Amino acid sequence: RARLLKLGDQEHITLFTVHHIVADGWSMALFVHELSQLYAAFTQGTEPDLPKLSIQYADFAHWQRHWLQGDVLERQLSYWKQQLQDAPPLLELPTDRPRPAVQSANGAHLAFQLPPELAQRLVQLSQEQGVTLFMTLLAAFQTLLHRYAGQEDILVGTPIANRRRPEVQHLIGFFVNTLVLRTTFQDNPPFHKLLKQVRETALDAFAHQDLPFEMLVDALQPERDMSHTPLFQVMFVMDNPEPGELNLPGLALRPLELESGTAKFDLTLEMAHADGCLSGYFEYNTDLFDESTIQRMLGHFQTLLEAIAQDPTQPIGHLPLLTPEERQRILVEWNDTAHPFPQDRCIHALIQEQADRQPHHPAVAFLDQTLSYAQLNSRANQLAHFLRRRGVGPEHIVAISTHRHPDMLVAILGVLKAGAAYLPLDPTYPPARLKFMLEDSQAPILLTQEGLADHLPIAHLQSPVSVIRLDADWGRIAEEPTTNPDVPVTPDHLAYVIYTSGSTGQPKGAMLRHRGLVNLTDVQRRAFRITPESRILQFSPLSFDASVWETFMALRNGATLVLAPQETLANAIDLVRLLQEQRVTTVTLPPSMLAVMPQEELPHLQTIIAAGEACPAELVQRWAPGRRFFNAYGPTETTVCASMFLCDPADQQPPPIGTPIANAQLFILDPYGQPLPVGVPGELYIGGVGVAKGYLNRPELTAERFVPAEKLGVGSWKLVQGTEDDGRQTEDEGRAAPISQSLNLPTSRLYRTGDLCRFRPDGNVEFLGRVDHQVKVRG
Ligand code: AMP
Ligand code: MG
Repeated sequence: RARLLKLGDQEHITLFTVHHIVADGWSMALFVHELSQLYAAFTQGTEPDLPKLSIQYADFAHWQRHWLQGDVLERQLSYWKQQLQDAPPLLELPTDRPRPAVQSANGAHLAFQLPPELAQRLVQLSQEQGVTLFMTLLAAFQTLLHRYAGQEDILVGTPIANRRRPEVQHLIGFFVNTLVLRTTFQDNPPFHKLLKQVRETALDAFAHQDLPFEMLVDALQPERDMSHTPLFQVMFVMDNPEPGELNLPGLALRPLELESGTAKFDLTLEMAHADGCLSGYFEYNTDLFDESTIQRMLGHFQTLLEAIAQDPTQPIGHLPLLTPEERQRILVEWNDTAHPFPQDRCIHALIQEQADRQPHHPAVAFLDQTLSYAQLNSRANQLAHFLRRRGVGPEHIVAISTHRHPDMLVAILGVLKAGAAYLPLDPTYPPARLKFMLEDSQAPILLTQEGLADHLPIAHLQSPVSVIRLDADWGRIAEEPTTNPDVPVTPDHLAYVIYTSGSTGQPKGAMLRHRGLVNLTDVQRRAFRITPESRILQFSPLSFDASVWETFMALRNGATLVLAPQETLANAIDLVRLLQEQRVTTVTLPPSMLAVMPQEELPHLQTIIAAGEACPAELVQRWAPGRRFFNAYGPTETTVCASMFLCDPADQQPPPIGTPIANAQLFILDPYGQPLPVGVPGELYIGGVGVAKGYLNRPELTAERFVPAEKLGVGSWKLVQGTEDDGRQTEDEGRAAPISQSLNLPTSRLYRTGDLCRFRPDGNVEFLGRVDHQVKVRG
């Protein structure tokens, strides 16, 4: 179909529409060429001189059918079957929106041009390495895709003209074929080795280019899925340069750029080399990607190409992706969380200050009893003196196992005042687990209560524990002075030890310091507007670090901690009644509890913090209106909380886990230890004052999970999948300068969370799940 649009006397647009089934790119060049010859002849009144065609497309089709049979077909088929064996069905690029069940052709284009010096160096590199520019660009593009998707096997489609015989070179018709080029990134190869692989693969593929792609799909019978194209979803095209302006008699002709608004694949990179320039465009499916994402991708592609041109012997995992500006923003600016806090003080000293300031204010409310700050402080003092007399001091561990009762707070504060760290043991835990924790920690003293003592597995421990009952033995404890003990304990000393189960293996005791806890309680006061009037629910079982969060949020900030019996907390209806009766202002609850709580009037409840697991958008919509609702995130190993987000009740999306809290840093790294750009999922690492000292008596595990920040970005952390993960850091053969050095990061050790996360463009972090299932790169 042809249309001539007349824009003016001298200016026209010719539109020519043709179905791809009867023409291809080569055909269009032929068409324009022949049209101009015909036009010239016509305007000059001469005979056009076009070459006679020896065959027609139908002849080719007929020939192809006969030729592509038997052995010829078998040879091609068996090559491709072997080449594509066990290939992943989908290249899992991180998308801005979930993939629709049925793929659309909605698309857009982003054009670019590379700097001429870069183009020149890539041409030179290709010559030195004995490859074509196509191969160099394809290898770099596949590296980009590998780093984005975290997959080892990267399959990219590429068109091939399929006009090797001279008879077909002047025909208009659909000859073009698509080849699938598969590259494997196993063992973190240096780029120049990858290039060799790409060359071999490409040459083999060209040698087997005659099998039409649709016949290959037919033969392989991949499981059909309407959400994506079969065998490959990303295409790379190296174009012949477009003809520029064409001058005919009395007519200048030039191609018109047109935004088709379509995309054939998830993503296509099309590039052309002309006059020393490398230019091209990305064609992307707009249901999957935003323009800003493709814009960033272009920056990463260019960063990657620059690094490759500079030194092609670098391992793939060492090549940077982030542009210098991104690096500065993501690593430095988003982590610029320094905020003063009383870093020379211990947590119990700050609680003591509250007791001096407001001795008669209730510190703890339990049923109809209250314990004032003065009462709590003097009882804890007596216990501290009692423990000191039994040799307890800094870096000692004292186990606590009590019912939910004011005794619990006396025990916690008493242990801290004695200079020791407390180890909470949930009395409802199975005896075997309690026994393990007592033996593993070698806590010499266990603080408990009358009824519980008999049920605790203390009879046959390897190292004996002396049991002190806070109720039955109180008479003896009460003989001690009520004055504040003077113990040489510093913020670097341990405040508590909490056992985390982890997905595999034995529970391990994370050792947390005073400094992180003091910082945390300052963060809480500011974020949750804690004042002495605040009434904070103690919901979490003692053995989870959420109880640390609740307890010290209240006591350090002079508020009241509301305790309740276990039965009340376990029942959603009773819990809501408790919140009403106790006029609770501040709660921290797991989303699963918020989901089942009846929506009663709760006029006093000003702040809800959802924590511990992913929070659905629907809970924010239900609970956030009329109050402040936070999503808080953090592992035990970084002092309860590392990031939080103040949720918007109108938000339809699940809330992110937010930005780092004061004096904490968040890094999202790929399996090579390289920082990832916005939008690309990787493992979350946490730095800052809250990072634990390590795991009790587990130096190897500690070295595995707590890594020195100097290693950041030098490509030295290679993870392997599943059971093969020995997690050890491999020797670093890289030349890349440590990022921590060049950026002067305020952190020395990072905790490796195992959580899969990604940055949103605004710097908030999205939680996506656990990383173990995702990591596909082998070291
Ligand atoms: P724990 O060490 O027992 O406190 O558990 C910490 C883990 O719980 C984190 O590593 C996450 O996997 C998960 N988690 C905690 N808070 C959140 C949250 N707000 N959203 C999603 N997952 C969370
Ligand atoms: Mg926790």
